[in-house]
Amino acid sequence: MVAYEEAAEAISNAFSDVPRITILGTSYKIKFADRPIEKDEDLYGGMCKPDERVLEVYTGGRSIQEIQAVLTHELVHAYLFESGLTQQSYDETMVEWTARMLVRMAESKALGDEIVLHRQMAKHAESDKG
Ligand SMILES: [Zn+2]
Repeated sequence: MVAYEEAAEAISNAFSDVPRITILGTSYKIKFADRPIEKDEDLYGGMCKPDERVLEVYTGGRSIQEIQAVLTHELVHAYLFESGLTQQSYDETMVEWTARMLVRMAESKALGDEIVLHRQMAKHAESDKG
């Protein structure tokens, strides 16, 4: 993105209350819709629109947990797309599996434990050098 576009986006964000999230350096808008999202005559509970840099989540009648689950699913689509795995970003089974496992990893604190383990390994590697 050129500097002018970044500046224009920063200005428009400053005057907007639309939540945004940065995915691998690309800013996405998060839109909470009060109706299911329509595409090609079908209705969806969530939608990742990488061309528009938008994640849309239908919130009607849903609990916070359900909304978070849909948002996590759409985030996985966006991360795959932004990392260049465009084809994989269309694999709904893999996207949903990944979204569910991310939630479970976060709940089990496996991610935090993994970070601690990496730090211990790095320290160990450092002490081996000296
Ligand atoms: Zn999906």
